[in-house]
Amino acid sequence: MEVTEATVRNILTRTTGYLKTVTSHSLQPYRGCSFGKSLCGVGCYVQHNRFVTKGRPWGGFLEIRENAAESYRANYDRERGWSRRRCGAFSIFLSSATEPFLPQESRYQVTTRVLRTMREYPPDLLVLQTHSHLVESVRDLLLELKKVCDLRVHISIETDRDRIEGLPSHASTVKARFQAATEIHALGIPTVITVSPLLPIADPDAFFDRISQSADAVVIDHFIEGDGTPDGRRTRSTPLPEAMGRLDPGSTDLDYRRRIIATALKYLPHTTGVSIDGFAGRYLR
Ligand code: SF4
Repeated sequence: MEVTEATVRNILTRTTGYLKTVTSHSLQPYRGCSFGKSLCGVGCYVQHNRFVTKGRPWGGFLEIRENAAESYRANYDRERGWSRRRCGAFSIFLSSATEPFLPQESRYQVTTRVLRTMREYPPDLLVLQTHSHLVESVRDLLLELKKVCDLRVHISIETDRDRIEGLPSHASTVKARFQAATEIHALGIPTVITVSPLLPIADPDAFFDRISQSADAVVIDHFIEGDGTPDGRRTRSTPLPEAMGRLDPGSTDLDYRRRIIATALKYLPHTTGVSIDGFAGRYLR
């Protein structure tokens, strides 16, 4: 994998499109993702973003944004003022186009330094979105951040299966991510499991029962609509739907999402969200 270091002028990106209804800004400590060749990378929505990939294979490059914390501080006053005027709150989604807790984080500490800076210069809301159990390594920082801003930790767990035949392994095991969620939730930090994209689940009742004990809420996001197209056509160009169909032929259409939502509601009747509404903390009634 090609790893490069870079500096950015403004690490805070004003959100557009669907993310605009979730937060005022997104923050990407890296460009690219070293989980790109693992299971979540197969259907990863970001691989279709040519602005990010510039034609490079997903999982083949990683840009370390070494001045992310300094850039956050330098742009804080202006971006906070702009967002409060525009939508009433300065809210950040970290991250929508990369993983904040990649293995490289232990060496470069880009995300960790941003979070430390946020203790002094907090947003109004921070949504920390991760696919990795390594988020538990910053739990002390999260406890401090919870005192100065609204904080939600989103941990993606797309299925209860350790392997999906024909696809690579998870970068972070299902067990490890559940463990991280349970620990963070036990600290009183608002924790959300994002089942995104929804993959075939072997035992839906056991899965959502476990989620209800490990988190405050759940978000269910199918690749249809979730990948930014009404029929999931971006994801249909990847090997993901075929592998899903081999396990459960019904799982590649939206009726599967409806059935899974019905099960989720049995265990999380007030805190089950769907797609972008769920990511924004708007739950089904
Ligand atoms: S961790 Fe997130 S950004 Fe990285 S490959 Fe997986 S889904 Fe994509």
